[in-house]
Amino acid sequence: MEELHKALKDRDLTVSTVHGKGRSLVTARDFYPGDVIINQEPYVCVSTHKRCDGCFRTTNLSKCSRCHVVWYCGTSCQKSEWRLHRLECEALSRLDDRKRKSVTPSIRLMLKLYLRRKLQDEKIIPSTAMDNYKLVEALVAHMSDITEEQLVLYAQMANLVHLILQWPEINIKEIAEIFSKFACNAHTICDSELRPLGTGLYPVVSIINHSCLPNSVLVFEGRIASVRALQQLPKGTEVLISYIETAGSTVTRQKALKEQYLFTCVCPLCSKVGQYDDVRKNAILEGYRCKNETCDGFLLRTTDGQAFQCQECGLIRDKEEIKKIATEIKLLSEEASKPSSSANFQEAISIYKMIEKLQTKLYHPFSINLMQTRETILKSLMKLEHWREALAYCKLTIPIYQRVYPAVHPLLGLQYYTCGKLEWYLEDTEEAVISLTKAVDILRITHGTNTPFVKELLTMLEEARAELTYKSSSKEE
Ligand SMILES: [Zn+2]
Ligand SMILES: [Zn+2]
Ligand SMILES: [Zn+2]
Ligand SMILES: [Zn+2]
Repeated sequence: MEELHKALKDRDLTVSTVHGKGRSLVTARDFYPGDVIINQEPYVCVSTHKRCDGCFRTTNLSKCSRCHVVWYCGTSCQKSEWRLHRLECEALSRLDDRKRKSVTPSIRLMLKLYLRRKLQDEKIIPSTAMDNYKLVEALVAHMSDITEEQLVLYAQMANLVHLILQWPEINIKEIAEIFSKFACNAHTICDSELRPLGTGLYPVVSIINHSCLPNSVLVFEGRIASVRALQQLPKGTEVLISYIETAGSTVTRQKALKEQYLFTCVCPLCSKVGQYDDVRKNAILEGYRCKNETCDGFLLRTTDGQAFQCQECGLIRDKEEIKKIATEIKLLSEEASKPSSSANFQEAISIYKMIEKLQTKLYHPFSINLMQTRETILKSLMKLEHWREALAYCKLTIPIYQRVYPAVHPLLGLQYYTCGKLEWYLEDTEEAVISLTKAVDILRITHGTNTPFVKELLTMLEEARAELTYKSSSKEE
């Protein structure tokens, strides 16, 4: 680990151990909004769905002709992956068809991990201070906290890995333990618009702890994980990112963290649990609306538990009435999942609009459920290229995004971007300039200005501004 400390010191970072929290990454100089704190290539990664194993692209794919499991976009990606895939390919080719179909991305991640370790041991692949198996060994596995059910699953997966590799020296228990490490340390690799592409293990990035009020953000540039400061981080500050979707009540966030990452969050936001502000915020995010349509008060359960009462005007909503609407929504949601999966967007939209109508009656106007439904409708409308209506839905979601996310958050930036892009298509140039400027203000911090995505956004904004200047000057003449 001496090596790692030196490599981090060169990047103005240190690792310290915080009691009860394990290791943490700390700044050794001041960092400013948008500064890259750390960049890391994955130790291993895999794409999910059908993507190129090298670059995660989905175009021009062809299967590896030998194992028929892995896809590549061309010879350059195939070549760059070959040292590792040669061994994986051999192992996969030994399997019969049925077994080969059971090779999931998680199984492949494990195969690649063992193969990479072997190749680094044999010095066929070089190791560096930030790229070696010792860093993987140092990751937490939380073995004592995982459920019996999960253990059985890991053991089954470990058996398959053992069978594929056929290495006498590795044991099932060790593989199962690494699966547990994957579960609490691996990161979902996303594109610039935060759509998931695959999974990767970034052992140095994994040192960074979670907060529901993070001061930094993790984004990806291709397969490279990039952590950027969201605010000024004075020397000696612990770097914190969020492991989960933070738009949720404290209970929801804590549940997600406990289930997947096996710890209880004690961040400043979570330590407010039970206080008036927290109760109010949660009731708005996930609770019901007042019966009086003009009142935006939040509702809490009455002491007898039989109803919900508005904390603003005192009106009572009956539990049965709420249950009735909730059941209708549930049934419609089940119905909606069918056309969504077969890409019948028109039908999906009409069902989601019914859900939206019921949710407006049931939930608080700033509810996350309502926001998610509108987001789904928005995405389907975009697929159908119904730009005008899509813009209307995008605008509906923005006030909720502004409430649930901090002022600098990639999802808020991306929502402004969608809004601006639609306004630009629809030739609402003035509006487009406003929305795209807001998007740039956020995304230049979260994503940097060198990614193709942000470069394209900057060009769009420039064009929109030029057009606006042209329009106003031709008006004056
Ligand atoms: Zn590729
Ligand atoms: Zn192959
Ligand atoms: Zn928290
Ligand atoms: Zn009320």
